[in-house]
Amino acid sequence: MPEGHTIHRLAALHRRMFGGDVVRAESPQGRFAGGALRIDGRVLQETDAHGKHLLLGFDDDRWLHIHLGIYGTYTFGPVPAPVPTGVVRLRLSDAEEYADLRGPATCELLDPAEKKALHARLGPDPLRADADPELAWRRIGRSRTSIGVLLMDQSVVAGVGNIYRAEALFRQGVDPSLPGRALSRERWEGIWADLVLLMADGVRVGRIDTVRPEHTPEAMGRPPRVDGHGGEVYVYRRSGMPCLVCGTEVATGVLSGRNLFWCPRCQAV
Ligand SMILES: [Zn+2]
Repeated sequence: MPEGHTIHRLAALHRRMFGGDVVRAESPQGRFAGGALRIDGRVLQETDAHGKHLLLGFDDDRWLHIHLGIYGTYTFGPVPAPVPTGVVRLRLSDAEEYADLRGPATCELLDPAEKKALHARLGPDPLRADADPELAWRRIGRSRTSIGVLLMDQSVVAGVGNIYRAEALFRQGVDPSLPGRALSRERWEGIWADLVLLMADGVRVGRIDTVRPEHTPEAMGRPPRVDGHGGEVYVYRRSGMPCLVCGTEVATGVLSGRNLFWCPRCQAV
């Protein structure tokens, strides 16, 4: 599942492609035919993202709400758009470009009150200017649940997925199994600051890089990482390999159904 930086990039891309334009909307697959009909011919006025939720605002105050889930994908290109292949839930286009959405977990229209309710049930998003980390701390600081699970709970912090979770905990030296209420406020502030920094970098670059300058392949004289998701990381999907900082084998385990990676030596708090 894409992490929050991907969704913020998608919001920016939709703004660049369609912002201020009359947009054609259709659902070649048919499953969003009614919704597409309602936004067809409307002007896309603004875009928004909160965690893993993409929101496109039209000139009748309706918001298109998309959550990609595990299977959702986008493809973009210049018009004329090709004949839709596969199950295209939604095709948006203007005079120049098109965007095809396939397989989202959610594709629906919201009115402003429903959009507000969506924001209210999501935790602060490190990529949003209006994010209040205090809201997350109030939940974390009194929770018996492990910080590893809390960071993935979208109602606590929105937008963090498996990679940012693993890497922020590593960088702050925090054991993922530590209960939220055993985490010091100082460590929480370090985790939040790291998420803000790393995720903003992810938006800029389009991939997740989390290693500090002294741990890049160039600085360490090591080969670059080879992995489908790209990016230089400390522990994510590096189980059994030596920690870039201390040389200990990176450990892996399953926590709430998701793979977790950490260095048993560096993350001892
Ligand atoms: Zn280590």
